[in-house]
Amino acid sequence: MASLMKLLQKQPHSFSLLSSTMRSYSNEPLYDLVIVGGGMVGQALAVCVGQTPAMSNARVLLLESSTEAPPTTSPNQHYSNRVCALSLGSVHFFKSYGVWPLITSIRAKPFKKIHVWDACSPSSIGFSVDDLSDSLYSISSEQYTGQSHEEGLSHDALGYIVENDVILQALSNKVNEESNIEIKRGVTLKSIDHTQMKDSINNPWLSLPLSDGTCISMKLLVGADGVKSRVRKLGGFQDPVNWNYDQSAVVATLDIEEGMSENTVAWQRFLPDGPIALLPLTDDKCSLVWSTVPSHAEQLMKMSPEDFVASVNTALFAEFPQDQLVSSANEVLRNAISIVSPGSVSVRQLPPTIKDIEGESRGMFPLGFSHSPHYVKQRIALIGDAAHRVHPLAGLGVNIGLGDVIYLHEELLKTSTAGGDWGNITSLLSYERESQRLNMPIMAAIDGLQRLFSTSLTPFVALRSLGLQLTAAAQPIKDIIVNYAQRKY
Ligand SMILES: Cc1cc2nc3c(=O)[nH]c(=O)nc-3n(C[C@H](O)[C@H](O)[C@H](O)COP(=O)(O)OP(=O)(O)OC[C@H]3O[C@@H](n4cnc5c(N)ncnc54)[C@H](O)[C@@H]3O)c2cc1C
Repeated sequence: MASLMKLLQKQPHSFSLLSSTMRSYSNEPLYDLVIVGGGMVGQALAVCVGQTPAMSNARVLLLESSTEAPPTTSPNQHYSNRVCALSLGSVHFFKSYGVWPLITSIRAKPFKKIHVWDACSPSSIGFSVDDLSDSLYSISSEQYTGQSHEEGLSHDALGYIVENDVILQALSNKVNEESNIEIKRGVTLKSIDHTQMKDSINNPWLSLPLSDGTCISMKLLVGADGVKSRVRKLGGFQDPVNWNYDQSAVVATLDIEEGMSENTVAWQRFLPDGPIALLPLTDDKCSLVWSTVPSHAEQLMKMSPEDFVASVNTALFAEFPQDQLVSSANEVLRNAISIVSPGSVSVRQLPPTIKDIEGESRGMFPLGFSHSPHYVKQRIALIGDAAHRVHPLAGLGVNIGLGDVIYLHEELLKTSTAGGDWGNITSLLSYERESQRLNMPIMAAIDGLQRLFSTSLTPFVALRSLGLQLTAAAQPIKDIIVNYAQRKY
């Protein structure tokens, strides 16, 4: 990959074959790439293409249906209730395109440990920076762009908590710097004429009407328009495999009691109705993601701030009934582990106590699983939540979406070098294969965890409890989990 990037750097005009025509046969403006959806994933693709020298001649259009201006957050402003846990792989990606310094110039909080524990059993597991392999820190950003950006990455973090608005703002600033990217806000596509896709002789490109009354032609249309993707629907993709979790996530910004020297742990407790997570924002603030049954989520949204804070503290600290059989089995396993491997038994730690909730920071989101059997068709590709949606318990949605961006960008680069057509199904299928190969196991694992932990039936509690204990004690297994979750793309 690095050598391909270097070669393309030396040949910045190798793309000209693709974009020599600025107008299509029907006199409509012709774009090499139209991205529908200016969320984190769609804008990330725009930045990738915009910053790749070999693609500097590509004409790109970003369509965003929202008319709202991109967010602006200043370092002293209130925290937004929507945040993402970014893996080190995603941080490296943002560094490679110069987005990371823009993010850290606003704010990003490193977390050094993840502590997970089960309310229905005595087991817990912790991951810390010590579980990371050194190779993660030695990824050269040249891998992506041929340019090196080393600033801004702490070498003692498992990942970073960043507000969605901060990521969007940084990406939006980068997109605006690229002269070959045009942005239309408040505009979307109206329809897709499928006969065009079947008749490549009379219709070499895809020609689409937009909601502003104009028509455009394109070589490749990318759907980055989220879980209800219009591109997926209008493009005639097979319906995604999907189900609702009968859970909603309640999010909020919380103040924690003083007394912790530094707030750098991401906490997650599995309760019978769903996981509750506290993600560090500052030394005295956390972001809450509490997944629970919809009726309870609605109650949480309506209660007074005092009752809400009390409910969160109860969820974090209350003792839940534990099955005697599971507790005994745990104790036996714990003793056995401490004999075989002294010091490897996981010690349960305590999360911070919540003091207050910030103003109107509560929000609620229904949760579900969705996976499109196909990510591509001739001249169309899906990325991010348009292609897949996961439960937030592992904090991986955007991270997986950025993986799509990297694989699609890699395929487009190869096509450019060969002087090919970006909409060609053969190279798009390579993107689909590579992304699905990585996405499907992680999506299945997240769904499995959600199911395993959403029950208080004894056999399942025993299974997860003993599994957690064994994983906590086995360093090689922890290494695999952490390095997989933090994987470089
Ligand atoms: C409570 C919660 C917590 C989460 N926590 C994490 C976490 O810690 N880490 C993590 O990695 N992920 C997390 N996620 C998942 C993450 O938020 C999503 O995966 C991510 O937002 C997907 O980004 P996207 O750009 O693909 O889609 P979206 O964010 O949905 O963006 C789609 C964009 O397309 C625009 N759009 C929609 N329709 C059209 C149209 N027809 N035409 C033009 N534009 C259109 C929208 O306005 C929007 O700007 C969480 C999700 C939830 C609900």
